[in-house]
Amino acid sequence: MTKAPSNDAIFWSHRDNGRVPLAPLSIDKQAINEQAIDEQAGDKQAIDEQTGDEQADVVIVGGGFTGLWTAYHLKRLAPEKDIRVLEARRFGHGASGRNGGWVVGNLAGLERHLKGLPLARRQALCELLSANVDEIGATLSQEAIDADFHKGGALYAAARYPAQEALQRDYLAHLLELGHRQHDCRWLSADELSDRARFRRPFGGIFHRQVATLHPGKLIVGLVARLAAMQVRLYEQSPATSIDDGKVTTPQGSIRAPMIVMATEGYNTLSQLRPHLVPVSSLVIATEPLSQSQWDAIGLAQRPTFADASRLINYGHRSRDGRLIFGARGRYRFNARPRHQASITQGDIQMRKALLQDLFPDLGEVDISHGWGGTLGLSRSFRPHALIDRRAGIATAGGYAGEGVAASHLMARTLAEMLCGQDTPLTRAPWAFDGCALDQVVRRWEPEPLRWLGAQTITLSYATEEALASRERHLPLIGPALSRLNDRFAAVIE
Ligand SMILES: Cc1cc2nc3c(=O)[nH]c(=O)nc-3n(C[C@H](O)[C@H](O)[C@H](O)COP(=O)(O)OP(=O)(O)OC[C@H]3O[C@@H](n4cnc5c(N)ncnc54)[C@H](O)[C@@H]3O)c2cc1C
Repeated sequence: MTKAPSNDAIFWSHRDNGRVPLAPLSIDKQAINEQAIDEQAGDKQAIDEQTGDEQADVVIVGGGFTGLWTAYHLKRLAPEKDIRVLEARRFGHGASGRNGGWVVGNLAGLERHLKGLPLARRQALCELLSANVDEIGATLSQEAIDADFHKGGALYAAARYPAQEALQRDYLAHLLELGHRQHDCRWLSADELSDRARFRRPFGGIFHRQVATLHPGKLIVGLVARLAAMQVRLYEQSPATSIDDGKVTTPQGSIRAPMIVMATEGYNTLSQLRPHLVPVSSLVIATEPLSQSQWDAIGLAQRPTFADASRLINYGHRSRDGRLIFGARGRYRFNARPRHQASITQGDIQMRKALLQDLFPDLGEVDISHGWGGTLGLSRSFRPHALIDRRAGIATAGGYAGEGVAASHLMARTLAEMLCGQDTPLTRAPWAFDGCALDQVVRRWEPEPLRWLGAQTITLSYATEEALASRERHLPLIGPALSRLNDRFAAVIE
């Protein structure tokens, strides 16, 4: 049963100097991350709505991790710069305020960036991705931002049926081939896996050391407070309605700047980015804090993240306050738009709860306290980017494909260093595009209904393969053919 919490969170209006409580928000089936943002929403004196015609050095559009980390790194590198951040709704309204909290030392679509590079170069780039996780942790502690950062590594497990072992062994070979180091990614036997987490049928798995977790809502709150202290001007309820010729227009004013950063990712409303990024929906649940006997039964004592080999995606972790946070099964809807409401249906919750209990049968009965959904951005080039079009005075970063918590920090630093004209390992990385127009870097999506038909076909094909393999049905011709077909799909989209 889901329960309403005792301390109903409150949405605060930031009009009229803030602190006007609107309706109480029952967080029953709402975003746990939103709750953290709400609980600390009293401290918002530094945030305004944008009004009047202003001038700045840099305007950042979008108040998620990409926008806030870009402001942070830019201000650190160039304290003299007048930087302003415009958020259409509330900071953290987008995916950054409602994700699953994995901080991954890798990049979705990395192979596209590394293709053709020599091994030593690939290894150096993988080192940057690994270091990014530690840098996030170090920055949070240096800035005294308590966002529950915890580096417990990740378990990529074969946890339900035998065919998963080969999938995970292939994935490990892929990680090492990309350039990740053996000491970061290593194979665990079935017993070693069971020492760390007690899955239903452990066949072994990968331990990836460079993966951490954090509480996204707390990170948003901490970053906003830090930026306010650094004299970055922060605006909420201030959507950019257009960006044109060095000017960002909002409903009540405008800001002119020689550089405008579009950091809107899956929640994008800007016409410039719309052809290049599609919004994909992703849903997460959280349990009530588990009892010690439940933790004893399922393990996860070191609080690693976990994912089970499935093309349909499932992932989770043990939160600092002793909950299981579990996400599974994203989807693309016809002509999709960003998902603004957080709440999800009982059906969505029950489906994810059943998957979680299937992974951990010893968990027993468990109450789900929260369930929420959001939107991530999928770029047609299936790889993240940090890009500056100097002629147009525009920069952007995104395309994280559901792995943006660490990637947004990396791309934000890359953007900040590029904007300051630095020559660094990040500005020389293959995801850094200086002096390029968006069309040169990120392809345009096909129009509907092609996008939707493609997504449906791939999802159906993945689901059929999974259904056959998990029931251990060996169809001599169909099984391998389906697997080869899905490998080809995966090579295109993952
Ligand atoms: C349910 C879910 C679970 C996820 N789990 C993980 C995970 O465990 N690990 C991981 O690495 N990644 C995860 N992700 C992905 C990750 O959250 C995102 O990749 C990342 O947060 C993107 O950050 P961003 O700042 O680029 O975009 P967002 O956080 O989406 O922020 C964009 C912001 O731009 C604002 N905006 C849009 N248009 C305008 C405009 N015109 N003017 C002003 N503002 C505008 C929006 O309101 C929004 O706040 C998950 C995503 C979802 C939805």
